[in-house]
Amino acid sequence: MTDLYRLLPPEMDELMATLGQPRYRADQILHALYREFPESLDALRQLPLALRTKLASDGYVLGAASEVRRVTSDDGNTTKLLLRMADGTLIESVLMQYPEAGGHPRSTVCVSTQAGCAMGCVFCATGQMGFERNLKAEEVLAQVIHVARMLRARGEHVTNVVFMGMGEPLANYAETIRAVRLLVDPRGFGLGQRHITISTVGLVHAIDRLAGEDLQVGLAISLHAPDDELRQRLVPTAGPTSVGDLVSAARRYFLATRRRVTFEYALIDGVSDSVETARRLAGLLRGSGTHVNLIPVNPTAGGFGRPSRHRVLEFERVLREGGVNCTVRVEKGSEISAACGQLRTDEANDAITEMELMRVPVAPMRGRRQSLPSPIPSQTR
Ligand code: SAH
Ligand code: SF4
Repeated sequence: MTDLYRLLPPEMDELMATLGQPRYRADQILHALYREFPESLDALRQLPLALRTKLASDGYVLGAASEVRRVTSDDGNTTKLLLRMADGTLIESVLMQYPEAGGHPRSTVCVSTQAGCAMGCVFCATGQMGFERNLKAEEVLAQVIHVARMLRARGEHVTNVVFMGMGEPLANYAETIRAVRLLVDPRGFGLGQRHITISTVGLVHAIDRLAGEDLQVGLAISLHAPDDELRQRLVPTAGPTSVGDLVSAARRYFLATRRRVTFEYALIDGVSDSVETARRLAGLLRGSGTHVNLIPVNPTAGGFGRPSRHRVLEFERVLREGGVNCTVRVEKGSEISAACGQLRTDEANDAITEMELMRVPVAPMRGRRQSLPSPIPSQTR
C-alpha cells in the first residue's frame, strides 16, 4: 500500500508517466490533494474512473489519520488531537492559534514524528512513555492535512508547522526530511520554508546533515543546561555531546542556512533556574548569535516543578544583561496537556495528567517504562 501523500511531486509525475497518463494528470492530483484535502481515492472525481480504479488496484490509498479525540483549551486557541494511524498507532498533534490584528489567525500545527520517543528526557511525558515506532512522512503530512481540513471549514488555513510534538525528528531523519519537502514544495502543501521549525534534542551529525540539505527551515536545539553535568542528568542520551558541541553545531547551521538558531531551555524549579545558572548560560552563548527560548517546565510525571514568575523573569533579565537574546515561551494549552513535553498517548493519559497536576506520585504503568529517574538534587538558591 502506498499513500499518495507520500509522493513528492516529481514522483507523482513519474507515476503518471508509468501509467501512460497525460502530463497534466500529476498536477491535477496534486492540486486536489493539497487544496481540497480529499479523504479517499473515490473523492478524486476529477480523475477518470479507470485511473482511480487502476490506482486502487495497484495499492494506492489516501490519508492515514483518523481523529479519536479532540480537546480544546478554554480560550479556544489550542486544540489537542489524538489521531489514529492506519495500523492503529496513536499519536498526538496540536493546533495553536494566535489571533492577528485584522486578519486570519496564525495557525501553527505541532506535529509528531515518532510514536513515543527513545531519548528519555526526564521532564518530558513523551520521553517517559518510551519509544513505539517512527512515523512515515505521509503520517506527518496526515497530521497537517487533518488540521488543514478542520481549519478550511472555518475559512482559515495552516500557516506554520513546528516539528515539536512527540518524538525526536532527527532520529527519524529521512522521513522528517521527506515530510518537510512535501510541505514546502509549491506543487505540494506549499508552505514557506521559513514557516517551518524543526526542534531537536541535539543530534550533532544530523544537524550538520540538515545544514547540508538545500533547505532553509528554522532549527531549535533543546539545550536545557549551561554545562554537561546538568545536561546529562536532564537529557540522559546526551552522551558525549557537550554543550559546546551544540553551540558549534548551531553556528555551522547558521553559516550554511543564514537562519538564526534557537536554543530551547526548560526552566525547572530549583534545578536549572538559578541566577548563577543564568550567568553560566550567558557565558556559554554570548556572541553566538543564537536566541534562547525559555520554557517554564510543564508539569509531567517526573515531579519537576515550574519556577515562580519572579524567578523566570529574573533568569530572563540575567541572560539579557549578559548579552543573550531571549524570550519566555508563551504558555499554550497546559490545562489540556497539550503544552511542550506533555504529549503522551497511553490509555491512562487523562487520569495521569490530573494526578500530575496535583503533584501526586503516579503508579508505574503496565508495559511502559517502569521507573522514573531518581530526582535531581536541588541546587542552592
Ligand atoms: N524531541 C525534540 C522535539 C520534541 S520536544 C526536542 O526534544 O527538541 C519539544 C520541546 O519541548 C523540547 O524543547 C523539549 O525539551 C520541550 N519539553 C519537553 N518536556 C517539557 C516539559 N515538561 N515542559 C516544557 N518543555 C518541555
Ligand atoms: Fe524525546 Fe524531545 Fe521529549 Fe526528549 S524532549 S524525550 S527528545 S520528545
